[in-house]
Amino acid sequence: MKRAYNFNAGPAALPLEVLQQAQEQFVDYQGAGMSLMEMSHRSNLYEQVNNEAQALMRELLGIPDNYKVLFLQGGASQQFAMIPMNLMREGRPAAFVQTGAWAGKAIKEAKLIGETVIAASTESDNFNRMPELSEIQVPDNASYLHLTSNETIGGTQFAEYPDTGAVPLVADMSSDILSRPIDVNQFGLIYAGAQKNLGPSGVTVVIVREDLIAESPKSLPVIFRYDTHAKQNSLYNTPPSFSVYMVGLVLKWIKSQGGVSQIQQYNANKTKLIYDVIDQSGGFYKGVAQPGSRSVMNLTFRMQSEELEKLFVKQSEQEGFVGLKGHRDVGGLRASTYNAVPLESCQALAQFMADFQKRNG
Ligand code: PMP
Repeated sequence: MKRAYNFNAGPAALPLEVLQQAQEQFVDYQGAGMSLMEMSHRSNLYEQVNNEAQALMRELLGIPDNYKVLFLQGGASQQFAMIPMNLMREGRPAAFVQTGAWAGKAIKEAKLIGETVIAASTESDNFNRMPELSEIQVPDNASYLHLTSNETIGGTQFAEYPDTGAVPLVADMSSDILSRPIDVNQFGLIYAGAQKNLGPSGVTVVIVREDLIAESPKSLPVIFRYDTHAKQNSLYNTPPSFSVYMVGLVLKWIKSQGGVSQIQQYNANKTKLIYDVIDQSGGFYKGVAQPGSRSVMNLTFRMQSEELEKLFVKQSEQEGFVGLKGHRDVGGLRASTYNAVPLESCQALAQFMADFQKRNG
């Protein structure tokens, strides 16, 4: 079987080794005479899967003991609502860094729950950059500051995070979690849908400091309370067991690669190949993000005309590339180079881009 050069934005490429391992265990999980999907989520075997995935998250990201790791459903989109529901306090607005499509969706949901303020926005630059840390103005009485670590559609990424002092920092890391080391102590809450860097869709990881979930409003439905899931070890109701299992396998794979620092280096090498072609193309390819805000996960670029971009997508597909068309809201081109996208795919794309320029430049 020939694997596609998969640059999908999410769901996205998974490590081949992980897929093969899942295949081996698919029908008969550890001699149980059934697949994991057929098993009770209260069984010892599933409890092991759940605990192991949590422990690996803790180990790989260096998560301190006063944080909970939760596996929830509803995607990162559900977190857009759950975070304000749980963390907003009376008379204390939620502050947001407005950096594009995903930050915008988080703001829209929070507005339905309570008062919001914009601490910084790069809208006047068409969201082609992340703000400087000095541009971010957080009101002292903010319930929290929310930012989007990596804008999946725009192709921008924070290089570093603001120090928000006593105001908890909340980060949507859906498209760059585990792509580089972070200091979890800087954050009150981190969340990420799994389907880019962590595994298949269906599960969302939430890492949250314990004190922040102790005082959620009493009126909140039980299912939407973080403390419900924290107290029940993410087993309050039936979890997406197969997705959690797959996340566990991906985490083991990251560990086998040498951990997050090694992955970061690998990603930098992959991405450089493609950004170099863009930068050396004499304007044939134009990067969308300003250089200081370029994402290592979603590489967005444009060409002189939409016709040429269409031709690029068509010919790339003929040569085995998948997912290079930009998001429908913004057009252009995008290569998503998450952790599991192999170097060989990026080498092939860089070569294809250079050849395409030769033919059409
Ligand atoms: N935030 C970011 C940064 C994303 O990229 C996405 C999905 N592309 C979401 C949130 C929404 O995730 P979901 O589809 O899991 O709700």
